[in-house]
Amino acid sequence: MEREEILSAIYHCVKCKLCSISSFHPNEEWLPLCPSGQFYGYQAFYAPGRLEIFREILEGELSEPSDGLLKAAYACTLCGACYEKCKQITSVEIRLPELFEELRRELVKKGWILDAHKNIVEKIKETRNAYGEKVEYRAKSVYGADVLYFIGCTARYRVPEIADAMLQIFDKLGIKYQVMDEEWCCGSVLLRTGQIEAAKELMEHNIEAIKRSGANIVVFTCPGCLNTIEKNYPDMGVELVHSTQFLTRLGNMEVKKLDMKVAYHDPCHLGRDLGIYDAPRAVLKGVVDITEMKREREQAWCCGSGGGVKSAFDDFALWSAGERIKEAREAGVEVLVSACPFCKRNLREAGEKEGMKVYDVVELVNKGLEG
Ligand code: SF4
Ligand code: SF4
Repeated sequence: MEREEILSAIYHCVKCKLCSISSFHPNEEWLPLCPSGQFYGYQAFYAPGRLEIFREILEGELSEPSDGLLKAAYACTLCGACYEKCKQITSVEIRLPELFEELRRELVKKGWILDAHKNIVEKIKETRNAYGEKVEYRAKSVYGADVLYFIGCTARYRVPEIADAMLQIFDKLGIKYQVMDEEWCCGSVLLRTGQIEAAKELMEHNIEAIKRSGANIVVFTCPGCLNTIEKNYPDMGVELVHSTQFLTRLGNMEVKKLDMKVAYHDPCHLGRDLGIYDAPRAVLKGVVDITEMKREREQAWCCGSGGGVKSAFDDFALWSAGERIKEAREAGVEVLVSACPFCKRNLREAGEKEGMKVYDVVELVNKGLEG
């Protein structure tokens, strides 16, 4: 975004702060929507405060990187709840998560980077994955298959049960697939934390590898990878779909209904960024009974781990996830289901103590296919 465009967007914000509350229960207490503001409790951590910080930097009023400033800039999950809410109230599109990414790019240009985020760059340089893991995740692959499964760092190294479930679904349904031996991090975490230069090499590599695969359709279980490749990569002439979209296209699968009542958690990148709300629900309905939580779809409460928050502010990330666990409990369920490895990892960590089980949609479909 150009400087003038950024400043124009900043000046369009009237600082009403209505983007911090969800309002679809008019007769009940309004629930918070901005995890960052709610956790830290200062204006600087809500969307309008963060915009004001950006204005002050652009107009030369803030020239020193205090710890507080860095925290306010980086302790935001870029969940986009503020953007959706602001748009609903004002009918003006102040593209808040994009502005906050621009803010981070500006900080990175000045060298104002968090050590935790610098470390990710080092790990990626060394291992090509965001966790610095040296052991390869290997899966069988059919050379030249039409379907390519892009696994992503988190499903490879932190929640491999999601990748395993997706691969088993392909096998059970007789779908030939390939995975990339040389799959590198998609670059999402670098782009979201303002470190664009470091992401370029990864993107170039993945573009070449995807083109070379000859696949026509790329399936993602990670909405962060899908969102990045769809929005930040050039068009590669292949179709990019989330696992739940892929599964809905298969029509009625012969799945056994599981005796489970679950709540579905909308991942931010899948819902607010890509507009995919119905496909995961449609797939889940074939396997389990779903209960909605109070904050869902455009006004879903974020799990707390995106935007580089999990690596730099784990206490905040776990608190946000804990709030979601409480909401699921209030909805009367003991199983929370998402469609994102990042969400699963964080919600599971927060849910373990509370006795809440956490799954990905593909894990439940895979269980349903067992019968
Ligand atoms: S971003 Fe929108 S909703 Fe939030 S304070 Fe500014 S104008 Fe109000
Ligand atoms: S993107 Fe999410 S965490 Fe960041 S200011 Fe908006 S609502 Fe708050």
